[in-house]
Amino acid sequence: MEDINREWNKLTLSEREEKDIDHLGKQKTEREYILAAKFLSRRVLNIENVSRAFRPLWRTQKGFRIRKAGEHKLLFVFDSKDDAENVVMCEPWSFDNHLVLFQGYDDDIPLNNLKFNTATFWVQIHNLPVRYMNYEVAEGIGETLGTVVKLEDKTKMEGGSFMRVRVVIDISQPLCRCRKIILSEGSVWWVSLKYERLRSICYWCGLVSHENKDCELWIKSKGTLTVDKQQFGPWICAPQFNPSRKTFVEVRGYYDDIEENKEMKPLITNGDGVDVVAPAAVRDADAGMQQGFWWQRLALMFQ
Ligand SMILES: [Zn+2]
Repeated sequence: MEDINREWNKLTLSEREEKDIDHLGKQKTEREYILAAKFLSRRVLNIENVSRAFRPLWRTQKGFRIRKAGEHKLLFVFDSKDDAENVVMCEPWSFDNHLVLFQGYDDDIPLNNLKFNTATFWVQIHNLPVRYMNYEVAEGIGETLGTVVKLEDKTKMEGGSFMRVRVVIDISQPLCRCRKIILSEGSVWWVSLKYERLRSICYWCGLVSHENKDCELWIKSKGTLTVDKQQFGPWICAPQFNPSRKTFVEVRGYYDDIEENKEMKPLITNGDGVDVVAPAAVRDADAGMQQGFWWQRLALMFQ
């Protein structure tokens, strides 16, 4: 906005041109929530195709409109704030196998001033030693990649054999493939990183903004680069992960519930109807009988 104002201030304006138009704010359309989007695809954008692609994926409660806003840029105007927030929460999105970068748009800022250089990913951290598979370690590794999105429900960070962390990443830099960590006893360990819902990345340089054939490294090499020199590969794209499928369960101690639940009926009531504490032998026998039941329940959860 400042740039534009500076340009007009240089010119001598006529009296008619200088006349203020006041109170435009009153005529602003209310109840609109706008996301600006930049499509990394190099193909010409057809907004009808874009609407057809996103409508079944987003399943919004209310409608939205799409406006062209420049080369490979669109504005998505939502009637519902929740719908707009859900789209951002479920990033990253792709169209034509290329990332689409979204950001909230306050229309008092010129669109050209928006910098589309971040995307939010679920990053999978593989090869962590089991005793380091916890939320603090995962977030610590995530902080070296970008800005970690702190979650209320941290169980979403459980991936079973790996940890997951949600990170806002600067995509003007190549994606990180790994991290070296120093374990408590001083030994060096490597963890590998995979990115969920990443559709394409340049295998020569690791940027998500272009394909292999458009890479400057490749073009400058005039065909002398061979595939074995590629520093990235399809292995950096995490396979489809279904967070609703349980990969982790925390099991409390059997007697924790009994001790904490004051209303739980004791195991034995004496003849006078007065509650007494069950003898240890009875509790042990009961625990033994329940063991098989617990394992069956655990097995069901992992199915
Ligand atoms: Zn490249």
